[in-house]
Amino acid sequence: MPNKNSSQNHIPMRTCVVCKKKVDQKRLLNFFIIGSEIVFDMQRVLPVRKLYLCPNADCYSGLAKWRKRYQKRFTGK
Ligand SMILES: [Zn+2]
Repeated sequence: MPNKNSSQNHIPMRTCVVCKKKVDQKRLLNFFIIGSEIVFDMQRVLPVRKLYLCPNADCYSGLAKWRKRYQKRFTGK
């Protein structure tokens, strides 16, 4: 990693699945879907497609609705 001081650190941004805001990924909760379960990946180690959620009550409560839509899209029902 050269030039540590010369540029702004690039912060990877991720999109919250519920509110669609782009947020620094370190500030988002990390989760994925196994079957129909939402599993939070606190350790960030599992090699699966990650999904992201803002750590606030609004987005958290929107998650159940989002999951229904998400599963509809995948099952076609
Ligand atoms: Zn959000």
